[in-house]
Amino acid sequence: MDKRKIWVVCDAFDHVDSFTGQLISKAYQLSKESNGSVQAVFIGNASDDELKRCALYGADEVVYQQCETKDEKVWLDILSDIYSSIGADIIMFTNTDFSKTLSSLFASRFEVGLTADCIDICFEEENGFVFERAAMSDSVQARIICINSQCCTCTVKKNAFVETEINAQKELNIRKWEYTGSFIADPAYEIINSVKRVCENNTDLDNAKIVFGVGRGVKDGETFDMICQAGKKYNAVVVGTKCVVDDGLLPKKLQVGQSGCSIAPDLYIAFGISGANQHLVGIRNSRQIIAVNNNENAPIFNIADVKIVADVKEFMKEFAE
Ligand SMILES: Cc1cc2nc3c(=O)[nH]c(=O)nc-3n(C[C@H](O)[C@H](O)[C@H](O)COP(=O)(O)OP(=O)(O)OC[C@H]3O[C@@H](n4cnc5c(N)ncnc54)[C@H](O)[C@@H]3O)c2cc1C
Repeated sequence: MDKRKIWVVCDAFDHVDSFTGQLISKAYQLSKESNGSVQAVFIGNASDDELKRCALYGADEVVYQQCETKDEKVWLDILSDIYSSIGADIIMFTNTDFSKTLSSLFASRFEVGLTADCIDICFEEENGFVFERAAMSDSVQARIICINSQCCTCTVKKNAFVETEINAQKELNIRKWEYTGSFIADPAYEIINSVKRVCENNTDLDNAKIVFGVGRGVKDGETFDMICQAGKKYNAVVVGTKCVVDDGLLPKKLQVGQSGCSIAPDLYIAFGISGANQHLVGIRNSRQIIAVNNNENAPIFNIADVKIVADVKEFMKEFAE
């Protein structure tokens, strides 16, 4: 039986960083469990000496495509070309913003399974590769297998695995790829515009008199931007629930609640926040709470001083005026 092909897509461009080392180390462990071989797919601009470092963590082969640009579309085509030619059973990506985009475009192009933010991966004879990730607001650890999928892909959380140098001296094959730009596939997507949302507000939570809380009810970037602009105008700090922070809209230091920070402002305005206990413990010392939610039964209304049943976007349009 052919060896299972375990790929690690290296995204540090010109060197093998620690995150990549973590993934190759895990791939090496999986290769031993599953009778596999580890291919590090390296796109970018690195010296042979740098590529050879992949062997330290257990790679059998580096497939290297020299490339001057770090662009998802270009990398997607190169990756597609390599995959179409040599195939893979499992492909591991880091969970950097770049690799999250690349992996989802790849999975959608080839209609293969993708498990995001894995914290563990194992191999079972019966199920093949099994991915583990937190689910349902971290309350359970889900085990996920890909069915009806030729290959399974995943993104992995940083520090989920340990970067481990292997003792054995490995023979590393460096395969120089020559992408000719000939890969033809229906483009699965077209990027019309790309906007990185940043909230450039006051972040001094300890001294904040006014705090705006953003929840999952704030569904689009435009509404988020309106809240940030209003925050700037009123010198409010914009914070979020765990869901919003997990989605990458705000940094972890601005998560309020059980696993974030606690606040005690004069005024807290909750936009599209349900009012889960884990959030409420972080805001209960606020002097005044205003809640905007389109569900009149949302638990946040039980503790709010002012209750506004409204669509948050419509509310913000009026608020802005
Ligand atoms: C161990 C553990 C620790 C946790 N720690 C934290 C923590 O520190 N902080 C935290 O916040 N959470 C924490 N959570 C998660 C918490 O349980 C909730 O899942 C989370 O607070 C819910 O976030 P949310 O209100 O943004 O989203 P949801 O619960 O999905 O609520 C969205 C709300 O928006 C409303 N809405 C939807 N559309 C609109 C609209 N158009 N206009 C107006 N309203 C709308 C909905 O009615 C709903 O009430 C933790 C969970 C666990 C298990």
